[in-house]
Amino acid sequence: MHSTLTVYITLICMSSVFIIYLGFQVLMKRHHYSNIANYFAVYTAAIAIYCIASALGLTSVTLEQMKLWTIVQYIGMPISSPLGLLFIMKYLGIKVTKKRIAALLALPVITFLMVLTNDWHHLHYHVFTVDPDLGLPYIYQEIGPWYAVHGIYIFGCMFIALLLMISQWKETARAYRSQLIALMLGQLVPMVTAFLYLIGMTPPGVDPVPMVLWITSLLYLWAISSSSLFAIMPVAKNAIFNSINDGVIVLDGTKRLIDFNEAARKNFPNLNKSLFGTSILEFWEDYFVLDLEHATEAKEVKMAVSGMEKVYQVRVTLLDESKGSLLIFTDVTELKKLQTQLENQAYYDELTGIHNRRAFMQQCEKELAEAKKEGVPFSVMLLDIDHFKKVNDTYGHHTGDELLVHITKVCRTQLEAPHLFARYGGEEFVLALKGMPVSEAEKLGNRMRAQLMNLPLKTVQGKIAVTMSIGITEGTDKSLHQLLHEADTALYAAKESGRNQVRVVEASKEKAK
Ligand code: GH3
Ligand code: MG
Ligand code: MG
Repeated sequence: MHSTLTVYITLICMSSVFIIYLGFQVLMKRHHYSNIANYFAVYTAAIAIYCIASALGLTSVTLEQMKLWTIVQYIGMPISSPLGLLFIMKYLGIKVTKKRIAALLALPVITFLMVLTNDWHHLHYHVFTVDPDLGLPYIYQEIGPWYAVHGIYIFGCMFIALLLMISQWKETARAYRSQLIALMLGQLVPMVTAFLYLIGMTPPGVDPVPMVLWITSLLYLWAISSSSLFAIMPVAKNAIFNSINDGVIVLDGTKRLIDFNEAARKNFPNLNKSLFGTSILEFWEDYFVLDLEHATEAKEVKMAVSGMEKVYQVRVTLLDESKGSLLIFTDVTELKKLQTQLENQAYYDELTGIHNRRAFMQQCEKELAEAKKEGVPFSVMLLDIDHFKKVNDTYGHHTGDELLVHITKVCRTQLEAPHLFARYGGEEFVLALKGMPVSEAEKLGNRMRAQLMNLPLKTVQGKIAVTMSIGITEGTDKSLHQLLHEADTALYAAKESGRNQVRVVEASKEKAK
């Protein structure tokens, strides 16, 4: 009998030593480890208290001493299994919030208080006394209702930790699997022992769990030395997958949904796990229309997301092995807005809203080349407001601005969509007329000029009527600069001849005939 007790105490002391060694080793090197080491150190401290108190309990010579050491055991034991669960959660990349910690540790605190005050209520141990057959230090206990609650809870925590690890098995890279095996066995050993104890299959009068915890410690030590547990950890792929800002959707070879991340769910609010195995068309009807798979570059896709129009760049990556594919959605809405804004600033005149000189030159070069290719006439018209300076001097610059906007509107009433109309600078405008001979352009110029005279700007200071002079030229065998120069010469001639008139370059007129 005495030698059995010695074996028990030796085993428990061995567990205590291993656990303390393990805890210290992790604690000392915690600066090299991720912050999971802190969780682990607290976890080992709780187990160490449990083991040491358990060993000392077996040296008791009075019932009072046994009770005292049981209370000390309960400082560490009830809290160790939720701490183990927290450590595993952290290991697997599951978010450990302060709320979760508090929730998990609340029940063990109550259990400790229950044991501390058991003599008054007997809710934890209905009976707690010296084993009548075996004598001191063996315990005879009859469990109370709270003991059942506590038993289910610590068992549940260990069980959940084990299930979490099993569920992450596939997700975990092969290199980390030995770590995972060590952790799983580390949980399984005390769990099975506790279970056998609870169903009365272990020697009576003693708690066998502290006797086997040295096995758990050895497994952890093995994981630390063989596969650098704590130093390098498998960040769960799911955690990475869900933290990507880009939406990711995984499809199999037949375009059925296999997986998606959090960001993807934002793009498709009705996307949920019940759609796994269904065709992508269930939640994205445009998929085949867009023909993304054959697109060589990312395609821009507009989608309404919670009432807002969003622009996504969608890329498809084919997965070799499974013939499946990854759809990656990058939100470029803000980028697009900025791009449009910059384009507007670069190509449109702020005051009148029509094209600016830069946009005109670029577009006009293209149209001139097309006209050349198609063999159609091409006319260029320059328009300059007469005595505009006087308007500014008389009514102020602001009214001058209003007038420029008004003139733009009046001119546009005579123009058709394909006509390239731009503000050339100051109070000068330019018009490129592809397919229009100079004779037609001259008529158009006169219509615009007449319209402007008929429609003065109405202001609080009265009506302001202005006229304009126009110079026109034609040709597809000249450069744009040449054409503009000729039109300017014609415009100058119009000004010289008294303004408010259209002048055509004589050579182009001749040619047009
Ligand atoms: P002309 O008949 O010879 O063309 O006389 P003009 O006064 O129109 O010609 P000039 O080129 O001497 O003056 C053009 C004026 O247009 C000078 C400038 O103050 C005014 N101007 C140029 N750009 C703007 C603008 O954006 N807003 C306003 N309000 N005035 C402008
Ligand atoms: Mg001018
Ligand atoms: Mg002028």
